[in-house]
Amino acid sequence: MSLLKSIPKVDKFINHNSFENYSSKLIAKIAKELINQLREDILSQKVDSFDETTLIENVIKQYESLTQPSLQKVINATGVIVHTNLGRSLINEEVFERAKTIATSYNNLEYDLQKGKRGERYAHISKVFCELLGCEDVLIVNNNASAVFLILNTFAKNKEVVVSRGELVEIGGSFRVPDVMSQSGAKLHEIGTTNKTHLYDYENAVNDNTSMLMKVHKSNYSIEGFSSEVPFEQIVKIAQEKEVIDYYDMGSGHLVDLPYNLKDDEPSVLEYMKCNPSLLSFSGDKLLGSVQAGIIVGKKELIAKLKKNQLLRMLRVDKLTLALLEENVKSVLLGKLEEIPTLKMLFTSTEVLEQRAKQLQIKLQEHCNCQIKASQTVIGGGTTPNKKIPTIVLSLEFKNYKPNKIEKLLRGKNIIGRIEDEKFLLDFRTIDENELELIENRIKEVIHA
Ligand SMILES: *Cc1c(COP(=O)(O)O)cnc(C)c1O
Repeated sequence: MSLLKSIPKVDKFINHNSFENYSSKLIAKIAKELINQLREDILSQKVDSFDETTLIENVIKQYESLTQPSLQKVINATGVIVHTNLGRSLINEEVFERAKTIATSYNNLEYDLQKGKRGERYAHISKVFCELLGCEDVLIVNNNASAVFLILNTFAKNKEVVVSRGELVEIGGSFRVPDVMSQSGAKLHEIGTTNKTHLYDYENAVNDNTSMLMKVHKSNYSIEGFSSEVPFEQIVKIAQEKEVIDYYDMGSGHLVDLPYNLKDDEPSVLEYMKCNPSLLSFSGDKLLGSVQAGIIVGKKELIAKLKKNQLLRMLRVDKLTLALLEENVKSVLLGKLEEIPTLKMLFTSTEVLEQRAKQLQIKLQEHCNCQIKASQTVIGGGTTPNKKIPTIVLSLEFKNYKPNKIEKLLRGKNIIGRIEDEKFLLDFRTIDENELELIENRIKEVIHA
């Protein structure tokens, strides 16, 4: 009983000077919860002692876990540029500043400043996109998954969509082409085999109920050996002959030619525009290097039908998305690729990466064993399946720790590296020059902890 009596009263307890710099309202709420819990634990004899210092510590711990941001900055030292788990593409700070005005003030999102009446939300972006791509119109939705869904639901509800068996993919986050298709109301008409699909498969598949010939980027896998698929421009031709829609879900979609001989295997959106397609869609935050969005480009009359679908109201994007995308497309239009972090990282030469690695090596060599090596990484995000690009890494060893121990310790400091050939590595493909000092300090903290 005396133990129960020694429990502090909430009102008095929260005046303790340890709580001086905290919001008293939240402290009181947490203190009440923890004190009630303590009383119950004493009554049920789960606890047979209590000390005030521990109680204060627990209140503060709970307070901090509630108030500290859960979404935090991390250092991506994995080398994977479009890292799906680490937030995909980064927004350039200056570009973000320009978009900030739009997000933090009233704006002409749906207002025509010339006519003085209601304007079109998507008009802001279509002008620059159409200039760049030579397309008739553009529509932006929440992400590429919703672009696929909206297109299928609009044009293929209760109708057939012809897709090669080799392209019925599942990409990360449980996006499965056959499942998305059935949810949208479209009927999947599979053609070909896993490894081979021919032109005649498409030709023979078209019937009175066919609405669309669809191609899907394989994204996270590739077929090697005895295989063939039909290039999109040939699918477009058949679709035109048979008077059905052609549509390519490009997945990533980029607006510039890729380096490291990736250009021929992964043509840009501009290349695909040359074959005069009905519809293309791609992500805003993969190789386009902007914000999460789904970009649909194509024929004006088709985009007009998409705009009439009620679903669009649910999939529409915010002013911040449109502002950021507009800036991104303008950077491409002006040839200022260095303004797009994803492309900047992709195009940085290994010589520059090596200089950065050396800078860090010099600072760390007295503290640990660190060696610079040439290695390979991937772009990520299902952009260029199984294709490697060159990179420079720094391998780190200290205190005879196993690589997975080093990985865990640095992860505790929000530095995410990778392990390769039994070594913990920092990959400079995704490390910015202005992050070097932070990395240096955090590694030293871990070594000297
Ligand atoms: C990534 C991807 C999607 C989904 O795009 P999100 O922007 O992530 O919604 C759809 N299709 C393919 C082929 C993809 O690679």
